[in-house]
Amino acid sequence: MAGFVLALDQGTTSSRALLFDESGAIKGVEQFEFAQSFPKPGWVEHDPTEIWESQLRAARGVIAKLKSSASEVAAIGITNQRETTVVWDRRTGEPIYPAIVWQSRQSSAICEGLREKGLEEEVRSKTGLLIDSYFSGTKIRFILDVVPGAQARAEAGELCFGTIDTWLIYKLTKGRVFVTEPSNASRTMLYNIHQGEWDDVLLEALSIPRAMLPEVCDSSGVLGETDPEWFGTAIPIAGVAGDQQSALFGQGCTSKGLAKNTYGTGCFLLMNTGEEAPRSGAGLITTVAWRLNGKLEYALEGSIFVAGSAIQWLRDGLQIIGHARESADLAQSVSDSEGVYVVPAFVGLGAPYWDEAARGTILGITRGTTRAHIARATLESIAFQTRDVMAAMAQDSGISPAVLHVDGGACENDFLMQFQADILGIAVERPAVLEVTAMGAAALAGLGVGFWRDRSDLDARVDSPTLFEPKMSEDERESRYRTWSRAVERSRDWASEEGSS
Ligand code: ADP
Repeated sequence: MAGFVLALDQGTTSSRALLFDESGAIKGVEQFEFAQSFPKPGWVEHDPTEIWESQLRAARGVIAKLKSSASEVAAIGITNQRETTVVWDRRTGEPIYPAIVWQSRQSSAICEGLREKGLEEEVRSKTGLLIDSYFSGTKIRFILDVVPGAQARAEAGELCFGTIDTWLIYKLTKGRVFVTEPSNASRTMLYNIHQGEWDDVLLEALSIPRAMLPEVCDSSGVLGETDPEWFGTAIPIAGVAGDQQSALFGQGCTSKGLAKNTYGTGCFLLMNTGEEAPRSGAGLITTVAWRLNGKLEYALEGSIFVAGSAIQWLRDGLQIIGHARESADLAQSVSDSEGVYVVPAFVGLGAPYWDEAARGTILGITRGTTRAHIARATLESIAFQTRDVMAAMAQDSGISPAVLHVDGGACENDFLMQFQADILGIAVERPAVLEVTAMGAAALAGLGVGFWRDRSDLDARVDSPTLFEPKMSEDERESRYRTWSRAVERSRDWASEEGSS
């Protein structure tokens, strides 16, 4: 009897495998880190073979702990670091260049070229994205430019491009299945999210031959089987989504107006917009959430660059806490931040400002300010930035969610979650099991093979969440948010001034 679903959670720093039982409980976890390579300033690369091997080892590790091994696994779901780009030889399955990681800026000059050609509007209206080296398209161009003979081989159909989902499926099926799904495709800058297909004009603009692109399938449903060599028996691969969309699904945000925020190094806020793909006028991107039974659903997405990493700065830079967890106690050792505002624009500001020249600033310091006020204001800044993005989402979509679902390492901080509820004026809901990214992939796969009947079937099985209700008065909330907005203004455009970068 197959009693488990296996989720492969291929992240930026590690490859993980998690087993879920029918009740949605986690029954095994394996994790292997892999090397990060920084060949030049601003460049980040991974070895695709190491990604595959670490992922295979993690999957084999959890399966080995089962009584009758792989036959107990009903399906595999995959969730992955998005945008990271691999190009490989179709025949041998060997990569022709390292994986270019989402964070890598090495294709910035190619982006500049696209802007000079006046393609910004084309990209925005078709893909929902901005022209940026973050997305896969210009990373493919970079690889085809630097590897001798690659362009000709791509045109002859000898090369494959894939995001990490595609790469893993290719490997798991020993090259028999070459597919992706729309939550990943929508991060390439080559995929028309409205029509649901690769876009010839954008492919042409980057001289990327269509022959190297995978077929785009549903996010849930069997899209191939693993080769028996890997786990001793063939297992269906039946669910795939990029990490943030997978978290959205795992949080149960499966209908319009439901939103989740992941508090990690940065924050990723996504709101389900249903079958509509609103164009952002407020600094967000429009992305595919998933495709189920041939139907595309969308989300608005805003990323905040610095969130949990501001807490690391308190620990490692200022050295005013010994562990991230201590930030809550220190913050609560004072009754309020006494007018201190920290804007953690350490690397500029992301959504909704997109200001590369903004820099971190602390405002409102007086003789009475202590490290406790700074710590408190730093935690508060994470919640204020989240409100900035929520406000942009409301502006773009006309929807104001009644609840914010939360996950990620920093959401264990109760002080932060309560302040988040206070400053948004809506409830914040934290699930009992925080592994929502892996849960999303497991859910897509389990639903894809009928292991679970529908999403609500699964929701009923998971433990009750913790709810944080807003307690702050409306007046205080709005007055504090106005002051935050003034603080943000002071931080903006700082590094563009002569000699101050
Ligand atoms: P990522 O996946 O981006 O590496 P995680 O979801 O693992 O991030 O979360 C780690 C981040 O959360 C770190 O930046 C850390 O500083 C922050 N963090 C962890 N625990 C807490 C806490 N109790 N309070 C505030 N921040 C925390």
